[in-house]
Amino acid sequence: MMRRILLIGPQGSGKSTQADLLSQFLNIPKISTGDIFRDLSKENSEQAAKVKEILDQGRLVDDTLTATIVKNRLQETDCQNGFIMDGYPRNIHQVQLFDPGFQKIIYLKTPKEELLKRLMARGRADDTREAINTRLDLYFSQTQPLLDYYKNQGILVEVSGIGDVSQIQNEIKKSI
Ligand code: AMP
Repeated sequence: MMRRILLIGPQGSGKSTQADLLSQFLNIPKISTGDIFRDLSKENSEQAAKVKEILDQGRLVDDTLTATIVKNRLQETDCQNGFIMDGYPRNIHQVQLFDPGFQKIIYLKTPKEELLKRLMARGRADDTREAINTRLDLYFSQTQPLLDYYKNQGILVEVSGIGDVSQIQNEIKKSI
């Protein structure tokens, strides 16, 4: 069975952790564009240096480059039974460039105060206060509108991002 699932939610909603668990449970890979770009930024090239600067500022990598990378990644053989997507698309333009054809979108709904608290505690290298604010602003202005797009397709489910990790994972499993 081919499963194409997107976990969507703001930074700090726990989507990466939940995507890892779901990936193990369904035995299909997690595709994280954030991980792909963090790896890319460590390479020794002009493109890598550009990507690193964007990540450090919390801005979005170019849509066309992102869509191409995702499209190519999904053609690899480990994705033939499906995948859990974490981080793509981030805006409507990206879906227009490449739409992975999701069957289910799981929205991890989490209030903003909770996000700020978690993000400041996480301490990832690109988690400066400025980058966090930029990423949250971008999420609410550009990524959140995707929820309506998917709601209209009737494939969106909402799961609360508040609670303990295993409880949230159970809610996610029930929804798929
Ligand atoms: P994440 O780990 O999902 O928080 O992503 C980390 C960073 O990678 C983001 O702040 C962006 O700079 C970049 N990134 C991840 N996914 C995308 C995407 N779909 N489009 C553009 N940039 C992205």
